[in-house]
Amino acid sequence: MASVTTPAARIPLIAGNWKLNLDHLQAIAFVQKLAWSLKDASVDFDGIDVAVFPPFTDIRSVQTLVGADKLPIQYGGQDVSQHDSGAYTGEISGAFLAALDCRYVLVGHSERRTLHGETDEIVGAKAAAAVKHGLVPVICVGETADDLEKHGPSAVPVAQLRTILAALPAGSDIVVAYEPVWAIGSGQAATPDQAQQVAAPLRAVIAEALGDDVAAATRILYGGSVKSGNIAGFLREADIDGALVGGASLDIDEFSSIVRFQKHVGV
Ligand code: PEP
Repeated sequence: MASVTTPAARIPLIAGNWKLNLDHLQAIAFVQKLAWSLKDASVDFDGIDVAVFPPFTDIRSVQTLVGADKLPIQYGGQDVSQHDSGAYTGEISGAFLAALDCRYVLVGHSERRTLHGETDEIVGAKAAAAVKHGLVPVICVGETADDLEKHGPSAVPVAQLRTILAALPAGSDIVVAYEPVWAIGSGQAATPDQAQQVAAPLRAVIAEALGDDVAAATRILYGGSVKSGNIAGFLREADIDGALVGGASLDIDEFSSIVRFQKHVGV
């Protein structure tokens, strides 16, 4: 049977971005059922990290549930302010997320870039704020279909990541999510080989900016129309260490099946 190529030091991460879905009551039911589903399937949590990214208003409820029942599910926010506090209506500080025991926070998701005008500089400032507050930023980069046609697959994500990482201190603990914009929500995922062709230069950028040890330890996720039927192919690639899942993360059976990608590896 083929095996995944993720080095032991990089535990695969399967992360579900719920976007603007599920209120706090639905979140409690969802996380509880997800935990049961993963337990029933005897998932070995020493070998995989599972995280959810609920809306802000759900996080307190998820924290309480995960803490009380000691569920092996990590969680984080979908965005963070670059500011710590002050007159920034609607913003959420990294300190507030850390106080709710969030481990991660997404920064630079393509929907934030497109709908809220976030530049690489802003994303860098948000990633720096996350690191400052002890959160692991999941830094999203990726090219549009237009970028792909004009510049090829890796030029834009590499340039984005280089600018963002310039804002971070050496040794920062980060996750990078390569999400081609044309693959998000389109049902048309990149091929594993395409994803690897971008992930390898992204790892080189991490080495340049944060050092070889950080590059070797940093998980690079693929995101864009990931499903149980295609996850195994991505995890076979040398530089892909997990997935950021949108639509399929809202279906418990499907998400649970993605988490159990090892079962599909030989397929
Ligand atoms: C996303 O929005 O980060 C994403 C990857 O979405 P989907 O899985 O639905 O393509």
